[in-house]
Amino acid sequence: MKLTYLGTAAAEGWPALFCNCDHCKRARKAGGKNIRTRSQALINKDLMIDFPSDSNYHMLKNNLDLSAVKYLLITHSHLDHYAPIELFFRSKSYYAHNLTEEFLYIYANEAVLDKYNKTLSDYNEEPTDQKIITNHIPLYTPLQLDGYMITALRANHAPGQTAYVYLINDGKSTLLYLHDTGRLYDEVYDYLIENKIKADVISFDCTYGLLKGGGGHLGLDTCEIERDKLIENKIADKNTRCIVNHFSHNGGAIYDEMVPIAEKLAFETAFDGMEIEF
Ligand SMILES: [Zn+2]
Ligand SMILES: [Zn+2]
Ligand SMILES: [Zn+2]
Repeated sequence: MKLTYLGTAAAEGWPALFCNCDHCKRARKAGGKNIRTRSQALINKDLMIDFPSDSNYHMLKNNLDLSAVKYLLITHSHLDHYAPIELFFRSKSYYAHNLTEEFLYIYANEAVLDKYNKTLSDYNEEPTDQKIITNHIPLYTPLQLDGYMITALRANHAPGQTAYVYLINDGKSTLLYLHDTGRLYDEVYDYLIENKIKADVISFDCTYGLLKGGGGHLGLDTCEIERDKLIENKIADKNTRCIVNHFSHNGGAIYDEMVPIAEKLAFETAFDGMEIEF
């Protein structure tokens, strides 16, 4: 499986849109991997996770053919993960010609699908031939999509909707994609243990960076606690690549500063454009 991190910031981006804090100033000055955009990832060329307003920039920066994406998993309806208005631009009659994949299949929770339908009705002057097929994916129900087995797990995030994190297997390797979530619920551990899941790569929510984790997100402190618990329960082992991702500027450490701190705890630090194969 090839995983490409397209965007690795929390909702505000880093530097944040309107911010002049010291952490944003340092990121601006250092540039490169210290610049983070909103959360999105690509698996191989055909499976995408989340669709923020930075999708256009991700397409440009990574020279992507977004029409080659056949499956789009959405984690939850927060705007840094899901900007449905951008999906109008898949309209065949006007905005999107010569599509590589005729249809885009979206899998998501009910809140995401409701937001999609509301966007369609709010902008009813837009063409509606996006060739998008929306589907609800229920919790803890593995779904086969071509060579992928996808399972939605309950995230500890976004009260008011059932937010998802995803377990993705391509027949060879297993990815646990934990964005966004705070401390994992026992029911998630129960599912992973019962189904003897062993992850090759785990992508951890590290929104709070060097601050104390809490609520619907983790910091490096709680990433370490969850990682150790995953190892204890044999869902991970010393060969599992553990990557921290989804950083808020309030977390304090820009990429260059986070790398050595995370490395001491055996975490890799994600950056926009990072590619890993496993
Ligand atoms: Zn987020
Ligand atoms: Zn800032
Ligand atoms: Zn969120």
